[in-house]
Formats: sequence, structure tokens, C-alpha cells
Amino acid sequence: MRFKLVAVLICVVLITACKQEAKLSVSKEKWGNTNGQEVFLFTLKNSGGTEVKITNYGGIVTRIIVADKNGKFENVVLGLDSLGSYLNNGPYMGAIIGRFGNRIANGKFMLDTVEYTLATNNGPNHLHGGIAGFDKKVWEAKEISGNDSIGVQLTYVSKDMEEGYPGNLTTLVTYILNNNNELKIYYEAEADKATILNLTNHSYFNLNGGSDNILNHELTLYADSITPFDSTNIPTGAIVPVTGTPFDFTSSHKIGERIDQLTYGYDQNYILKRDNPGLTLAAELFEPTSGRFMQMYTTEPGMQLYTGYFLSGLTNSNGQPIDKYRGVAFEAQHYPDSPNKPHFPSVVLRPGEKYTQLTIYKFSALNK
Ligand code: BGC
Repeated sequence: MRFKLVAVLICVVLITACKQEAKLSVSKEKWGNTNGQEVFLFTLKNSGGTEVKITNYGGIVTRIIVADKNGKFENVVLGLDSLGSYLNNGPYMGAIIGRFGNRIANGKFMLDTVEYTLATNNGPNHLHGGIAGFDKKVWEAKEISGNDSIGVQLTYVSKDMEEGYPGNLTTLVTYILNNNNELKIYYEAEADKATILNLTNHSYFNLNGGSDNILNHELTLYADSITPFDSTNIPTGAIVPVTGTPFDFTSSHKIGERIDQLTYGYDQNYILKRDNPGLTLAAELFEPTSGRFMQMYTTEPGMQLYTGYFLSGLTNSNGQPIDKYRGVAFEAQHYPDSPNKPHFPSVVLRPGEKYTQLTIYKFSALNK
């Protein structure tokens, strides 16, 4: 009788402990300083053990740790191990990109009869928000905790004419992790003058934990056309079907299968197929050794597929080299150079309007 009672008590204690351990959590630690501003590292953890680390420097996702098909947890994004490393050189890895993700030809655009000139930082062109884009700003941060999800909300106020962009712009980016292993990124912004905006996240994924390049990863894209570009990576304005080209991922292909037909690997904007506005499945990525599977959903009209040809000279937080083709980025976005291409979906944000975007990266493991 006494034995039974003790056994029951032990069970109750164990179940309570497990329940407590299984709770979602968000924690915050100091990560350093830059320009007199404090930088933090936030850790989001769900009840299945998936962990996401985010810093308020650049809104960078430094790690996403998920299970493989055997329950082994590994980091599946390229990331550096300290704030100092990001300050030295973190080629947009994991960062929020703004005000304008991707390129604007010659850094110039017209808006309501005024010509604006932006910083040029990529040959003749403007790239990823300029010299000190959103990826290099310290964002205000606050933790969010709920019963089903946890997160971090980041806010940055960009002043009128920062990097040449008109209008004071307030941007909120909210990262949310839930128990379905979804990392959701909500973007919201408002400006006090007409301006342009194209926000994205620049995470590079490597579903085998970074131990090899991504050429064996199998990719499906829900896109059947692209915006081809000129010698400086500016879209020609044409919209071309992918059929019969190495860009065709309408059915699953290994990333490495046709990559040698392209001088610098994949660095291409895709036009996403969608029946309705709203959230749509954009990409599916499968890594056969680990069984890890990632799906990306977005409300954006386009997505840049970038396989990191120029990555080199850095060390991943896992200790592996970050070199050519070590990660693949899926950047939800409006098309490059949209401000100069009136037939592309508009990137203009006017006072009184609200910019919104939702992009989701969902992780699982398949036994196939
Ligand atoms: C662009 C590449 C660029 C890279 C820099 C990508 O989003 O498409 O052309 O070299 O970012 O990290």
C-alpha cells in the first residue's frame, strides 16, 4: 500500500516536472554593445525542444535548432557566434533587410515627380537598404510570451532621408515560434511621407546542420516564372517561364543538379504562383540524410533564391566553414528594382497606409 502511494507520488512529480519542462519559453541575455547601445540575444524555445536565437542587432536570427528524423537537434541556419563577429562582417546572414531588399538600378527612383538618390553599395546599384541598412541597426526589443507561442518584437524608427529614402518610417518585426515548429515573421510599417519599402529576412538554411554544402538539398518552388536580369543583376523587365531551364523547380530537384550551368549559382527572383492574395506556399526544402524538411509560406509576390556563391572566410557558430554554397536563402520580397518598373507590383507606401507582410518557415522531419 505504502509502496503504491510512493509510486503514485513519484509519477505525479515526474509528470509535473515534464509539463514544466515542456513549456514554451523566451529568455534574454546581454550580448554586447555597439555605438553605446545595448545588444541582447533572445532564445525562444518550444515544448518540442526547437530553439531560435535572435539578436536585436539587425534583427538577426543567429540559430534555429531543430530535430532530424532521429531526434538529433542541430542548427540549420548559418550564423556567427558573437556580436563582434557580426560587427566585423556578417554578409546579411539571418538579418532583417530594409528599407529595400535587393537592388535598385543606379540607386535612383522617381516617386510623385521627385527623383531620389540612394546610397550605391553594389557596383552602380543600391543593395539591401544601402551602406547601413536595417541589418546594421540596433532595434528596440521586447519579449512576447503566450500559451501557444513566444516571440520577440523589434521596432526601428528610420529617419527621413536615411540612406536617401524619403519619410520617417516606423517598422515592427515580430518573430514568433509556436509548437508546430513554425517561425513566423510579421512585418508592419508606417511612414509619414510617400516612400518605398521592401522588407525581407536573409537567413541562409542548411538542413544537414551545416556539415556540408546545400547541393544535395531537394528543392520545390511554387513559382513558374522569373524576372531575368542584366549584367549588374537588375531585372530587364521581362517575365519569363522557367520551363526547360535550370531555374525550373516546379517539381523537386537537387539544388546541385543543374547549378553548374549558372556562372554564380542561383541568385534569382521568382514570381510566386498564387490563386489569391494572402499567405501562399512558396518553397519546400528537403535534406535526405537528416530527413529535415522546411516549408516557406509568404504573403509576398516574389522570392529571391540565393545559394551563396560568394560566401567565404567565415566560421559558422557550429565551427564549420561558411564557404561557397554552404547555405541557401529564400528571401520573400517584391521584385528587384520595382520602383523603376511600373508593371511590377507596387512598393510604394503612403502616409495613412500600413505595410504588412507575413512569412513563415516551418520545420519538420520526414522518414522517406
Ligand atoms: C542577393 C545577392 C547578394 C547577396 C548578398 C542576395 O540577396 O540576391 O546578389 O550577393 O544577397 O548577401
